[in-house]
Amino acid sequence: MTTNDLRELFLDLNVKFDEELKKYTNTKTGGKADVLAFPDSIEETEKLIKIAKKNNVPLTILGNASNLIVKDGGIRGLVVILQHLNQITVDGTKVTAQAGASLIGTTRVAAKHSLTGMEFASGIPGSIGGAIFMNAGAYGGEIKNIVESVKLLTRNGEYKTYTVDELDFGYRHSRLQSEDDIVVAATFKLEHGDIKKIRERMEELSFLRASKQPLEYPSCGSVFKRPAGHFTGKLVHDSGLQGYTVGGVQVSKKHAGFIVNIGNGTGKDYLDVIHHVQAVVKEKFDVELETEVRIIGED
Ligand SMILES: Cc1cc2nc3c(=O)[nH]c(=O)nc-3n(C[C@H](O)[C@H](O)[C@H](O)COP(=O)(O)OP(=O)(O)OC[C@H]3O[C@@H](n4cnc5c(N)ncnc54)[C@H](O)[C@@H]3O)c2cc1C
Repeated sequence: MTTNDLRELFLDLNVKFDEELKKYTNTKTGGKADVLAFPDSIEETEKLIKIAKKNNVPLTILGNASNLIVKDGGIRGLVVILQHLNQITVDGTKVTAQAGASLIGTTRVAAKHSLTGMEFASGIPGSIGGAIFMNAGAYGGEIKNIVESVKLLTRNGEYKTYTVDELDFGYRHSRLQSEDDIVVAATFKLEHGDIKKIRERMEELSFLRASKQPLEYPSCGSVFKRPAGHFTGKLVHDSGLQGYTVGGVQVSKKHAGFIVNIGNGTGKDYLDVIHHVQAVVKEKFDVELETEVRIIGED
């Protein structure tokens, strides 16, 4: 499909053409999307998905782009960023958030209603959809422990709901990673708690993050999954890789599990650093580091 064909298909919708994705990714890297949409409602999302399906336009769904490396050649077809689907409602101990709501914002709403169980997620900079997709977790907590159900939109434009048991959650894993359904909302089951204690715990975790993570630089969080029996940070540190730099991308000197963009880094710089770290750790410790971060797009 040519650029003109794509323009004609999406012309009447609120989309951007040839838009630089590095404006939206947390690493501040990545090439252009042919078509980029920020739907304001679930109905608008459905409409975009149906047009893409009917016309065989490749479709990529992003949340807050905080766990992604987009390659420098960008993404063909339609990219949909769900950040505007951000309603959060509370009903008793249940919190329902649309897919584009921020995880941080959702934990704040839960805290405001004295609901406990979600504090662990208070500093994870992803969206609800991305957190479900990744089974995000931190400080002993995981999304899977608080999810009750997830509402999904299939690429044919149909709706379905999965309960927590149907999502096949594991360490940074959900069944959505091998299927292509789109999360539109999730319901979390929390418990009544003490608002003061909830806020104290959130502040404590926020302090821990700021003291340990290089939040002053763009990044995608922990790049690698924790290999069984090891800690990624220790392997990278003991390999002498902290500070290793290609172009504008560097293995963080503050947190060995992070790879940061210290200035004008590219997607290729990221991939070069990742491959080097994997090769050195394999050679020194015979451990394969698997990426947690999703790498998408074209070279
Ligand atoms: C500084 C920093 C700290 C971090 N700390 C943590 C941490 O403590 N724990 C942790 O687990 N992660 C952490 N992360 C990683 C990241 O924030 C999480 O993985 C988060 O859940 C990703 O959400 P997102 O909306 O940004 O997803 P994106 O990066 O936008 O997308 C990630 C994947 O999810 C898919 N996806 C996104 N939305 C949907 C949807 N609605 N439906 C279907 N698929 C979807 C995308 O297609 C993509 O494959 C950190 C990242 C940074 C930058």
